[in-house]
Amino acid sequence: MIRLVRPALPAELADRLPDLTAEIGDAAHPTRTARALWKRAVVRRNVHAPLRRLLEGMAPGYQRCMYCGDSQGTDIDHFEPLSLNPLRTFDWLNHLLACSTCNSNLKRDRFPVADDGTPLLVDPTTEDPFDHLLLTLSLGVYVARTEKGAATIDVCGLNRPVLTQGRVHARRVVLMCLSRWTAGRALGTAAEMREAVLTVQGQPFADVCQAMLRLALSPGAERVFEDTPWALAVLRDDELRAQLLA
Ligand SMILES: [Zn+2]
Repeated sequence: MIRLVRPALPAELADRLPDLTAEIGDAAHPTRTARALWKRAVVRRNVHAPLRRLLEGMAPGYQRCMYCGDSQGTDIDHFEPLSLNPLRTFDWLNHLLACSTCNSNLKRDRFPVADDGTPLLVDPTTEDPFDHLLLTLSLGVYVARTEKGAATIDVCGLNRPVLTQGRVHARRVVLMCLSRWTAGRALGTAAEMREAVLTVQGQPFADVCQAMLRLALSPGAERVFEDTPWALAVLRDDELRAQLLA
């Protein structure tokens, strides 16, 4: 999971959503009405479609799921589930793009909250997941930094084997690309450097490269990269960072 930037809604959509929310608020059975409205054909066409396009533009890589970063994001996920708060069904700030495994099989209607009512799930559009989730690069496993991080790992199944194995592989790809980028710079071939950057940016698990870039500047970086000290030097290079963080 990486930090994502949510754009403002286009005016036409921003005008349409409050009317739908008002209809739910006026209903005798808000949850039932919210579900029916969400499935209505005209809403699918005029609301889902533009929402999905916006979410796809925000998502990491090629429309990857905003939770696992691996599979294609196919579902508009309600961060706060519709069943718990139907009035947020059409709240743009409550929409994320998720794969069907994260959305329908794992997260479903789970929405843990702290004693004071604060959500215990990380919302990558309002906070930095890095503050809550530490990626162990060699194992591809997330370790919780906070209570919220622990709940997010649990609810979204962030340490399921297919993801941990995928992250280990993604790290391998990033290291190969760093090597290629370094060779390209030594030879003065910008095209090689660009290819390396595009390969990293196009692969799933954007969180792996982002974690490597963040950890390279964190205390204890020498220990984290003790097997690949050359990579640590590259990850600290301003030119590479500018290209990968762009
Ligand atoms: Zn997912």
